[in-house]
Amino acid sequence: MLDFEKVNWNLISKEVDTYFEKLFPINRSILSSGVLSSLKILQEITDFEIVEIPTGTACFDWTVPEEWSIEHAYISDLQGNIIIDFKDNNLHILNYSESVDKILKFSELENHLHYQKELPDAIPYKTSYFKKDWGFCLSYNQFKELDRNKDYQVKVKSTFGLGAIRIGECLIVGESTDEILISTYSCHPSLANDNLSGMILWTFLLSELKKVKKLKYSYRFVILPETIGAISYLSLNENKVKQNVKSGLVITTVAGPGRFGYKASFKGNDLVDRCVIRTFHENKINFLKYPFDINGSDERQYSSQLFRIPCCTITKDKYYEYKEYHTSLDNLDFVKAEYLVESLKLYLSTIQKIECSMVFFKSLNPGCEPFLRKRNLFSHLGLTKSNIIGLGNENNENILGEFENFDRYRDKILWLMFYCDGNMSLFEISEITNINLDQLITAAKILLVQKLLTQIN
Ligand code: ZN
Repeated sequence: MLDFEKVNWNLISKEVDTYFEKLFPINRSILSSGVLSSLKILQEITDFEIVEIPTGTACFDWTVPEEWSIEHAYISDLQGNIIIDFKDNNLHILNYSESVDKILKFSELENHLHYQKELPDAIPYKTSYFKKDWGFCLSYNQFKELDRNKDYQVKVKSTFGLGAIRIGECLIVGESTDEILISTYSCHPSLANDNLSGMILWTFLLSELKKVKKLKYSYRFVILPETIGAISYLSLNENKVKQNVKSGLVITTVAGPGRFGYKASFKGNDLVDRCVIRTFHENKINFLKYPFDINGSDERQYSSQLFRIPCCTITKDKYYEYKEYHTSLDNLDFVKAEYLVESLKLYLSTIQKIECSMVFFKSLNPGCEPFLRKRNLFSHLGLTKSNIIGLGNENNENILGEFENFDRYRDKILWLMFYCDGNMSLFEISEITNINLDQLITAAKILLVQKLLTQIN
């Protein structure tokens, strides 16, 4: 069973900050060298495979497009003064812009300019992956500065060629072949909450989960460009995914200052939905609930008819919902490492619950209540140290501390003895009794030592 007591959250928080700084400036896109260099940086945290799906590969109704790279992109006046330069911000160029070298009237240029009036200082993030086009994104204030009577020089030097979708992948093998999919996307340039925060959380989640011995489920981690990455991955791994993946978590927008949110799976009451909701309840978090929607992230692909994998998302400032979303204001000032770590804890806690849905105990004393006092389990002073010696747990002191409150723990033990019939999982008992899973785990450990429970495989 998962135990995250020893995780050094402060150290992780510091590392998260480092990786925000390292990865934010990289110009990522669906097929670009930026994705590969970002994955290589994330491999410093923990190892995973990088697999490639080449340009031209047919995947369901789609074809993997060409790889895009950009050398320079700017708008200048005819005196050579540069006004908008991609070098200043990756978002200035319409992602996947083709080359252009022209002098244009303002009225011609205007059709290729993207801005957002409501946020006059923000540069919007725009893409044109599957339609050849070129364009610049700029703040409304920058747009207003342009002279409607002038001509402008526009230069974009970009290339399209054979390349590959790069996908980070790692399968953590548990006792069961049933898998939980943990997915995030990797294609956004210089945007912090959407989607850099998801990339970093995904990697630390992988790193922490690899340290857990004896997982019940297997965990399939994938990090891929949104939409085309998920579609191509599913296309190439159709049978494996259909056979093994039971539920999923799609990680995105996890480090903003706003409230926690939960996007429900298409089923709405799948195991993963219930585990997320329990996690919020246990942590007394007043979360925002978003019903399943056909817009969103890669759950759209994973939950499509051929696969029907129920996927949930835990967010902290969900995409679409915060005003800085998909603009240059979604930057390193908007996110905080400590917010990301809070989200990471919730993802880990959700996985703990998923794991405990496969943990079953059976009472060895089904005939009426056990006589607890006979076993010296309870006294009016609470547990004594001698009761827990032999638990084989390095955290005996903690358990003793936990159990000092007799009244608080008596019920937990009795509920376990009431429900543990070998058929109801520890997670279900936690749901039905509204007792925190951690406390039930502690109580179960005591009952195992006392030979009142046995674990069923
Ligand atoms: Zn996005």
